[in-house]
Amino acid sequence: MNKHLLYLFLFLLAACGAEEEISQNVFFAGEIVNPTTTHVVLYKGDVVVDSAKLDERSRFSFQLDSITEGLYHFNHDPEVQYIYLQKGDSIVIRLNTVDFDESLIFTGRGEEINNFLLELFLANEEEAERIRSYYTLEPKEFATKIDSLKQEKLDILDGLTVEADLSDKEEKIAKTSVFYNYNMYKEVYPFRHKRRTNNSVINDLPDDFYDYRSELTFDDQDLTYLRPYYNFVKYHVGNLSYMTCVNSCDIETSVIRNQLHFNKHKLHIIDSLVEEKELKDNLFRNVAFDYLLKVHDTEKNNESFIEGFHELSSNNRHINEINTLYEGIKNIQPNKKIPSIQVLDLEGNTISLPEIAKNQNTVFYFWSGTDRTHFENIKRRIAKLTSEKPDYSYVGINIKTEQGHWKALLESSNLDPENQFRAPDFEALTKALIIYPLNKCIVTKNDVIVDAFANVYGPL
Ligand SMILES: [Zn+2]
Repeated sequence: MNKHLLYLFLFLLAACGAEEEISQNVFFAGEIVNPTTTHVVLYKGDVVVDSAKLDERSRFSFQLDSITEGLYHFNHDPEVQYIYLQKGDSIVIRLNTVDFDESLIFTGRGEEINNFLLELFLANEEEAERIRSYYTLEPKEFATKIDSLKQEKLDILDGLTVEADLSDKEEKIAKTSVFYNYNMYKEVYPFRHKRRTNNSVINDLPDDFYDYRSELTFDDQDLTYLRPYYNFVKYHVGNLSYMTCVNSCDIETSVIRNQLHFNKHKLHIIDSLVEEKELKDNLFRNVAFDYLLKVHDTEKNNESFIEGFHELSSNNRHINEINTLYEGIKNIQPNKKIPSIQVLDLEGNTISLPEIAKNQNTVFYFWSGTDRTHFENIKRRIAKLTSEKPDYSYVGINIKTEQGHWKALLESSNLDPENQFRAPDFEALTKALIIYPLNKCIVTKNDVIVDAFANVYGPL
């Protein structure tokens, strides 16, 4: 063999080898303008992959040496955004927290798929208003409008597939994002149409309206945390639950108004439809949280729900979280004693909630130093309530605010310092009192709960 050729061959082989080796790594870095916390955390699903501290110039970097190709997301509290990563990627982002999604730009190897997903997400926000106005259209017209928006994005993707060398998996993620994103609107359509026009079309949809349903998949792990896919599945389950109920239950008019009944349908639909375990668990969890946190059903109904839940999903990966939520809600039903959570007064003395509530009518409300708009509103509201309903004592419980900052905020407010407390352990507090939403308040008479799910802006 020609010696020169051999050397060339060996050189090429070595070069290829070297390239192979380098391409195992993933580099993901960036700069955050107006940072809101000190870290960026990278997740795969609900598992933390790594976290990076911002340096003095607000830059961060991740150097990852073995990574499964797929969808990740990164979190710079409270913002979250996707990133698609595969071996050899070298991605740099720059973003401004003041305008998080709009300011985000990806550059480097791997940028194409990431910028496409981001553009799709932004287009979605931009089109939201227009799509809302389409809901009043007749089914055929509506489908045509949605399909044309969908086709626009698929055309862009076609161009991208030619220009950039997308991997099969990247192409799949991009395509399914478009597919599920736009078909979701068709799942929602009959319900929104009815709400807007008072006209029910659900039994008169054209035969091909749901044609895409033959292509749905419920066992692809790559899609589990893809937002358009997950949203689609939630609405699809809602749609099927409604139809099942209408067709096979004998309560036609009260469907959906009976939340326990409707949410049990949802659990059964998820159970029969979804194969992928993590997706299934996440959907089950979503139904449980929606029902338990938002419906505020009776204790008996909540119990019936959780029993049904355990029958179908006792090995749910979120089961401890769901059980804790259920127990928390059960413990703050009317006529129960307010949980004995310890809080701190301005001098740093520990006192329990039952001690605070003793011998008076109390309204406990909650606020955080990081949500200034909420705090400004609550100050006005408490002043108004104090003068209109003086037979209550209004007790503020601060959450997630450092002690010095808390005191400074109180000093510049007109709130009565005697009635201000701080929760040193937010986790324990929210598990016991279910602080959701932040505008909720708890009304007690002596230390007994009257209503733990009242709204501070509603009637007491
Ligand atoms: Zn039913």
